[in-house]
Amino acid sequence: MELKSADPTIPLEGSPYDLRVSLGEQVPEFDRKAALESGDWGFIHSFTTGSAVDGPGMRVVAWLTSCQFRCAFCHNPDTWKLSNGMPVPLQRAVDVVKQYRIGLKTMHGGLTISGGEPLMQKPFLIKLFQGAKAAGIHTALDTNGALGDRLTDEDLKSIDLVMLGLKAVTPDLHKRLTGMDNAPSLAFARRLAALKHPAWIRFVVVPGFTDTLDEIGKMADLAAELGNIERVDLLPFHQLGKFKWEKLGMDYPLKDAVPPSQELMEQAAERFRSVGVNVV
Ligand code: SF4
Repeated sequence: MELKSADPTIPLEGSPYDLRVSLGEQVPEFDRKAALESGDWGFIHSFTTGSAVDGPGMRVVAWLTSCQFRCAFCHNPDTWKLSNGMPVPLQRAVDVVKQYRIGLKTMHGGLTISGGEPLMQKPFLIKLFQGAKAAGIHTALDTNGALGDRLTDEDLKSIDLVMLGLKAVTPDLHKRLTGMDNAPSLAFARRLAALKHPAWIRFVVVPGFTDTLDEIGKMADLAAELGNIERVDLLPFHQLGKFKWEKLGMDYPLKDAVPPSQELMEQAAERFRSVGVNVV
């Protein structure tokens, strides 16, 4: 395929908080589709190196573009559109990750693929994970889980850890918060549990949505019931992505929302601990 490679003047490395738009728009629709199907190219917002908050140890994080959710609290709305990502050949992505192999091993880390929703680019994601694993690098997938059925049991062998970003347990609340049903995400969570596949849950306490002890309790009970959840990242909503909504000219529903109090976060953590869940 004759895709134009990532513009060498644009650094692949960056932060998820960099606003990036239109980087892949020069790629014709036809080529975009072929790239997605083959997995020989991926559309990447950026790579972050040295992250200590996106999986165990020190991580290199590949932020892929495209997401089917529309979370009201999303801090990366520029990752929603595939064409905001840079087209990057698979081998280049593997090489970027492999150059950190020794440091990642020393710091008990690895590669995390996040987004956006990485499973929107499943063939690329699996090939990148396979390349990392062949180099002895630990792999983690950060996903909302809704497209989990795209992953075969064989695919899961190249993913050491699944970090499930579960947004809400109550179906109506989930729909209001993300625009999507949560049944597929919960089904994937249960499948991982049945397979005893290592998993974390990432849960954001969002003001006006998931900041009630009732909803927090439901998430805690789910995590306990699943039995394969090694840890829950309990995350307070923050406003670091606000500028992106503004710059993109999008109506940000949480522009005036205040992050949850420390007291509530402590109560929430206690609720998880009370059912034996390891919460961070
Ligand atoms: S799933 Fe993640 S990337 Fe997608 S809208 Fe929600 S928070 Fe944003």
